[in-house]
Amino acid sequence: MPKEKVIIIGSGPAGLTAALYTARAMLNPLVIVGNQLGGQVAITHEVENYPGFPEGTTGPELVELMRQQAENFGARYVYDSVVSVDFSQGSPFTIKTYSEEYEAEAVIVTAGASPKKLGIPGEEEFIGRGVSYCGTCDGFFFRGKEVAVVGGGDSALEEGLFLTKFASSVNVVHRRDELRAGPILQKRAMAHEKMGFTWDTVIDEIRGNGVVQNIVTRNVKTGEVQEKPIDGVFIFIGHYPNSDFLHGQLAMDEEGYVITDELMRTSVPGVFAAGEIQDAHYRQVATSVGQGCAAAMQAQKWLSDRE
Ligand code: NAP
Repeated sequence: MPKEKVIIIGSGPAGLTAALYTARAMLNPLVIVGNQLGGQVAITHEVENYPGFPEGTTGPELVELMRQQAENFGARYVYDSVVSVDFSQGSPFTIKTYSEEYEAEAVIVTAGASPKKLGIPGEEEFIGRGVSYCGTCDGFFFRGKEVAVVGGGDSALEEGLFLTKFASSVNVVHRRDELRAGPILQKRAMAHEKMGFTWDTVIDEIRGNGVVQNIVTRNVKTGEVQEKPIDGVFIFIGHYPNSDFLHGQLAMDEEGYVITDELMRTSVPGVFAAGEIQDAHYRQVATSVGQGCAAAMQAQKWLSDRE
């Protein structure tokens, strides 16, 4: 069984920053990458609010730079996902992936979050055939087509605006008559000729024949139900933490977010957490980077205090 000093579970901005800091502390960290190197930001088209890039950057570019920077100091990456952990006996901890079982003296959990689903008929059936959770990934397939975007937050408007590059129209279907998104995105979206808004409305069903063809909408105020033709449904209604593999191992809140203190410590000494697995509020690259840095510094301190 490979024995490691520090294992980092996940490779988003929090994980890659933790990798950089623990690598520079000569801890030779091993990053278990997970499904997608870079996590959610890797499939984000534009990143305009990460300091140091006055013209903005792209998610993939930012991820590659972070990956390289940590690697330059000795971080190692395995392209595998964790299936279970055993933290119950204390350090060294056991971490099982699809292809290996590792031992680690300290662990930094940065497994991130995933997009929430609506849970309506047709949603699962048409994933990849008109239903999507990622404009950057799938926008290209909707050239000249009409799409609906579900949600009223920053993600819905940002992704909706991105989709206007391809789609002939982008209709934001929002369950209230007020957007949650910030003012800059609201202004841009409202001013865009291809963007429209359907207020106080939810989608009850997605219908089609092999691919998405219609949505059944319901006005939550009037109760009016309509069936409308549509080519694509993009869903941006928030996220849930990727913490299934941690149940029973770490203290979590009722939504499954790992509970950390101000030093990024979890309920198990020697296990730290950073990024969206423990943060339901900020979800920014900048905050995840800061949390990843803090978790790495605490892991380093915890290891040196033990020696
Ligand atoms: P969010 O802010 O939680 O917004 C989710 C939206 O989906 C809300 O408008 C919500 O409606 C709606 N919604 C939730 N459940 C629903 C359901 N079952 N059916 C229909 N609608 C539903 O999530 P987000 O947009 O992904 O943003 C998450 C965080 O990331 C935020 O802090 C945001 O500021 C940040 N973010 C920032 C940027 C940026 O700075 N450029 C970009 C993306 C995300 P209600 O409004 O009625 O609750």
